[in-house]
Amino acid sequence: MTTTAVTAYVVRESPPPGRLSVVGLDDLEVLPDRLRMPRLTVEDLRGGSLLSGRGTLRSDPRWSAGHAPAPALNATVRAFSLTNVAWAARRLLQRVEACLGVELPHLHIVVGCHDNGRRHWSGGHYRLPATWYSELPEEGPVAPTGEVHLGYGRAFVVHEGTRYLHSPGHDVALVSHEVAHHVCRHVADFRLNALRPAREHTNHRTAVEEGTCDYLAAVMIGHPDIYGWHRGHLPLTDPRRRCLAAPWTMASFRGGHDADPHADGTIWAAALWEARWRAPEVGFPSEHVDAALLHGLARLGSQHFTERDEENLRARRYFGTLLAAVLEAARDASLAHHVERVMAARGIRAGWSNAHAREVARGCA
Ligand SMILES: [Zn+2]
Repeated sequence: MTTTAVTAYVVRESPPPGRLSVVGLDDLEVLPDRLRMPRLTVEDLRGGSLLSGRGTLRSDPRWSAGHAPAPALNATVRAFSLTNVAWAARRLLQRVEACLGVELPHLHIVVGCHDNGRRHWSGGHYRLPATWYSELPEEGPVAPTGEVHLGYGRAFVVHEGTRYLHSPGHDVALVSHEVAHHVCRHVADFRLNALRPAREHTNHRTAVEEGTCDYLAAVMIGHPDIYGWHRGHLPLTDPRRRCLAAPWTMASFRGGHDADPHADGTIWAAALWEARWRAPEVGFPSEHVDAALLHGLARLGSQHFTERDEENLRARRYFGTLLAAVLEAARDASLAHHVERVMAARGIRAGWSNAHAREVARGCA
């Protein structure tokens, strides 16, 4: 096994985006416009010779702050996206695979998507093959095992005292959130996509999945303010900030087709985060909560259904369904009791529907 040195943001003590660091990637194949690793490819959609020059695997994104001439800026931003995304994605995928003892299906990550030539896309999403998408249609077929799409970015943030293009591929939390959708699809399969025809998957995500992805993003950066880098202008209590340190309870849950599953999911993510940081109080490393969650997801995924029954699909939307699976999967009864207690204080109880939990939390039931 060979290890290649690349640059990436490592988020530990420092807040996002983290500290620019040289890290090692194992079994890395470097092509001019993409990086290949076992079960993972990270590609720049526009192609070219981004990774052909000396030092491109160790490019310094801070030069993208506006000091370099435009073409160099562009190549630097894009080259760093490839190494940073590869590092962030590989870390999460390896952690899940090691915890569950599985190999996840191949993930293809494409940087530079949904760019209309005049306006860069500043977002990211996880896509499964479908005949129709509610927004941002796909020009070509999506890989059967799923793809993460990231834009080049267009908004500037202040970083180290200077203007910095917030390229989604530079944001470890954002990348981790989208990669976590791949984990959810192939470990829990919340929407029972495995029972759908190969090219007719649903890309509608539920609040419990969005919250789980936010939690895994926070775990990977070790910080609850996952989007504080590019949404720092929003108050910590604004649901759009998606800060997991907020005291959300089921009383804030909206639900229904008009509600944003990301905002609703923050209630689940924040409760899990509290269980995580308080785990040492009851004698457990925080990582044990992560493991219980992953094994809970696997427990959901192992349930055998022969058809996409409405009742099953509805139950898989409930925080209480995943919580029940997490409690069953927890290796230690006192850890399960700890998670149960923290969740109950937020109005989340095993087996309860989201609507019932909301009514109880609002004192209406
Ligand atoms: Zn998401």
